[in-house]
Amino acid sequence: MEYLDNINKLEFNSLDNELRDYAKMHDVPIIQDMGLHFLRQVIMLKDVKTILEIGTAIGYSAIQMAKLGCYVDTIEINENSYNIAIENIKKANLSDKISVYLGNALEIDLNKLKKYDLIFIDAAKAQYMNFFNRFKELLNDKGVIVTDNLLFHGLVLNDNIESRNLRQLVNKIRKYNTWLISQTDFDTSIYDIGDGMALSIKK
Ligand code: SAH
Ligand code: MG
Repeated sequence: MEYLDNINKLEFNSLDNELRDYAKMHDVPIIQDMGLHFLRQVIMLKDVKTILEIGTAIGYSAIQMAKLGCYVDTIEINENSYNIAIENIKKANLSDKISVYLGNALEIDLNKLKKYDLIFIDAAKAQYMNFFNRFKELLNDKGVIVTDNLLFHGLVLNDNIESRNLRQLVNKIRKYNTWLISQTDFDTSIYDIGDGMALSIKK
């Protein structure tokens, strides 16, 4: 909503603005501002110290989370994005707070990772259920999993999608949404924030 987008304020430095412009120009789906507001406050409320992110892209969300004092491990499958993220994290002087792993999150050796207070799932939407099941083991007691893009630009509400591929992807997201809510080891709510975000609290 434009009113709230304007009234809620986030502080961005020149590097943040550079990354935001880059994302816009190159169609990189970085976290939306309201999504970032939400994530920041979850981090503060839960006193989150360690974060695992699935899907680094250019490092924008990892940088925003690390700025709050968190340690972030983040996984990126695309080598070009990985290289850009490493550069951006260096520029942000956050190389000691963020470790970027190159590879498929579904194949990464879990022994390389730690335990986390928060896991942010923000990669290939068709794989969300697999990400959730694979990484929930790495969650600390009372930890939380945040999943992004669950409304997929509103497409999840649209029953008349022409493209077959898109329709299949949207159906996968719908399936994930109902599956996620039904997981009894987590308390989950899905919010109309940013591109649609779920907060799942481990019981
Ligand atoms: N979290 C970022 C945006 C991530 S966009 C931000 O808000 O700033 C999603 C990213 O996930 C893309 O860069 C894509 O290459 C990556 N990705 C997709 N599938 C993946 C997988 N299986 N493992 C790791 N990364 C993946
Ligand atoms: Mg996202």
